[in-house]
Amino acid sequence: MNRLETFKAVFDSAPDGVIVVSHLGKILLVNQQTEHLFGYKNEELTGKGIEVLIPERYHSKHIGYKADYISDPSPRKMGSKRELWAKRKDGSEFAAEISLSPVKLKDKTIITAAVRDITERKKAELEIATQNRKLQIQYKELEQFAYIASHDLQEPLRTIVSFSELLQSQCSENNNEAANTYINFITNSSKRMQELIKGLLDYSRVGKHRELRYVDCNSIVQEVISDLGTAIQESNAQITINPLPSLNAYSLEIRLLFQNLISNALKFRLNENIPIITISAKAEKKYWHFTVQDNGIGISKDDKEKIFIIFKRLHNRNEYEGIGIGLSHCKKIIELHGGEIWVESKLNEGSTFNFTIPNNKHL
Ligand code: ADP
Repeated sequence: MNRLETFKAVFDSAPDGVIVVSHLGKILLVNQQTEHLFGYKNEELTGKGIEVLIPERYHSKHIGYKADYISDPSPRKMGSKRELWAKRKDGSEFAAEISLSPVKLKDKTIITAAVRDITERKKAELEIATQNRKLQIQYKELEQFAYIASHDLQEPLRTIVSFSELLQSQCSENNNEAANTYINFITNSSKRMQELIKGLLDYSRVGKHRELRYVDCNSIVQEVISDLGTAIQESNAQITINPLPSLNAYSLEIRLLFQNLISNALKFRLNENIPIITISAKAEKKYWHFTVQDNGIGISKDDKEKIFIIFKRLHNRNEYEGIGIGLSHCKKIIELHGGEIWVESKLNEGSTFNFTIPNNKHL
């Protein structure tokens, strides 16, 4: 095989259609893949203007693009910000990706255009975009449902709680022990239900009116620590706050996040141990990595993911109070910021809650 034949074989076996065009836009040569893509034979294209492969509606614009390219030729993708369409011999069209590169010959410049049919890729992108839109709508509907349900359930529940309290105070005067016990159950359960519904309502409200601000995490954590003053004093907790960053974020939500993590670190302490809590942050390339570390009861491997589920608790209310909503708030807040949250932990040794917040100025 001589050199020319080798070149021809390489040219024809290229996976993209390759079209060689003169500086005036006349087709000089095409490879086999071009014939396959456009349905023309090589000889039908040779000598024709490149416009034969472009839908008519783009012709007038293409003349301008062509002139621009010839005045400043360099290897580049065509129309990186707009959709490109190519036209086959039978008039049908396909979405195309086209890369141009100039080839300098002795006295003139010719251009090679590599054409790729991206119909399948476009179809897949469209499918993903449609699925995303659907998911977003479903998520919004679910949030709306949680909001309406929890909002509207509050009123009848309030009535149940007040009347059962009334009944409780009246029945305690007569000595019907069984009736008193039952009424106690009703009162306690409806109060509990009130807490849960309020939790659900709060959850659906998280981030609803979020405002992006430049947030100094040091002062936010200081404020949270001062709000938790009583719990800190009672437990003699030792809290170390390493330097934290200022970042563009939703300030109220970030405050709630730290409040939940620090109050959990205080609450889930091991026996009567003094809580030792360390809050730190480290800059990574594209995000900040925060940690809230404690020496508390720890979390088993199997439970590390479950604890972020709404109303999921690992303990009886008599051991540790709460309704199991704090960490689901944290997860929602971090997801609003486009970050991630997870825990590293060993039972009876302590936990480190990790979360990331991307350095994203336009959330
Ligand atoms: P709550 O504090 O109301 O129980 P959360 O959603 O904040 O709800 O936490 C869910 C569960 O995760 C807790 O019940 C607890 O079992 C576990 N947990 C959270 N934080 C810690 C921690 N710092 N140490 C050990 N367990 C924790």
